[in-house]
Amino acid sequence: MKPRVRFAPSPTGFLHIGGARTALFNWLYARHTGGTFILRIEDTDAARNTQEAVNVILNGLRWLGLDWDEGPITADATGPSKGIYGPYFQSQRKENYQRRVEALLSHGLAYEHEGAIKFKMTREPVIIPDLVVGDVRRELTDREQVDPDFVIVRSDGEPVFHLVNVIDDLEMNITHVIRGEDHLSNTAKHIALFKAFGVEPPKYAHIPLILNIDGTKMSKRDKGASLTSYMEEGYAPEAVVNYLSLLGWSPKGNREKLSLEETVELFDLPQILRHNARFDLTKLSWLNGEYIREMADDRFHELCIHALAKAGLDTNRYPLDYVKSALDTCKGKFKLFGELAGYAGFYFQDQVEYDAQAAAQVFIPENKPRLQRLREVLAILEPFHHEGIGATFGAVAKELGIKTGVLVHPARLACCGKPAGPSLYHLMAVIGKDRTLCSIDKALARM
Ligand code: GLU
Repeated sequence: MKPRVRFAPSPTGFLHIGGARTALFNWLYARHTGGTFILRIEDTDAARNTQEAVNVILNGLRWLGLDWDEGPITADATGPSKGIYGPYFQSQRKENYQRRVEALLSHGLAYEHEGAIKFKMTREPVIIPDLVVGDVRRELTDREQVDPDFVIVRSDGEPVFHLVNVIDDLEMNITHVIRGEDHLSNTAKHIALFKAFGVEPPKYAHIPLILNIDGTKMSKRDKGASLTSYMEEGYAPEAVVNYLSLLGWSPKGNREKLSLEETVELFDLPQILRHNARFDLTKLSWLNGEYIREMADDRFHELCIHALAKAGLDTNRYPLDYVKSALDTCKGKFKLFGELAGYAGFYFQDQVEYDAQAAAQVFIPENKPRLQRLREVLAILEPFHHEGIGATFGAVAKELGIKTGVLVHPARLACCGKPAGPSLYHLMAVIGKDRTLCSIDKALARM
């Protein structure tokens, strides 16, 4: 049987980077083996359950490109590539749980206790065969010695995590449970439940935790703990996927930059590392820079346009050729797509706003005749290409006996409103002669 794996997040309103990595490992294993990847939202805790909390998970997985293969067919397409499957929601599967609990009760494997239902836990040590950590022998704790049985349905009628997690894994024919090591302590209970249902438990692969770079436990509040922060700051998802794949897994040869195809090809459970992984934001930023630098133009444009739209800049108002040449002047100039609007937003704004401090420095009276002369010469430049523009700056500076920089600063501020930005000669060529002259005129009027 081909592997069937699942990512089973609880909607907490937060997708931890460790959860994203668990999702990725499951997805990679399914893609590597030609198996099935299931998304199951563990939303039995009705109090915490909101649509927004579910969306955080769905948007995160879509952003990473982790498409799921199965689920109820929904009207609103949710799977990124298959498009027609919603995830499974435990809240929609309550009858299954009831049926299974009744079966346990009728076989004497569970009993009522103070309005709740408890499962008769085995008193024997449980061996957890784990593909990552090896065999783990789990004895009853001192407290469990007194009463090893545990609640599977609360007195308010709500089924408990252990129960629903096992029932779904069983009914969805999950072959491999790949999840964080924090769940290892639950696994003896899960194996006992599988046995009670008369079904062989799946194979387990508990993946080591992700720690902060200093070795401390990563909490929700630690920088970089939330997947959403990467989406907002404008990382390239392919860089994040690449980085996450190496958190606790390592292909031979210690390679750091791997395409998704290669990762799918190489990924397997035996290479999951046994020690905890340390999260290195510097390395992720570096990798992100590498990805942007080597990114195909189309993909670069796509991510740029998306980032600009997020910042409220609508590139659709401009011809596509213009948009692309504008963006090309930015390639290799920023680390995060979130920086792009600040860096090159002027291309897509009708009014340039001047940085006040820079304006006070360069929009000064002695620069006015210089800029005027530059304008005169630019006005007759044909064609208006960056080489010619550069030569014009050089020639005017020479004529006036000043350094080229003396012209560059006010001209740049006139065109982009900021003291720094893409190469001035290139950006002038992109915005064209009319807009360049118009920008210089506006600046002159302020001097
Ligand atoms: N809902 C559990 C969690 O989010 C799932 C654990 C599992 O993968 O079995 O931690």
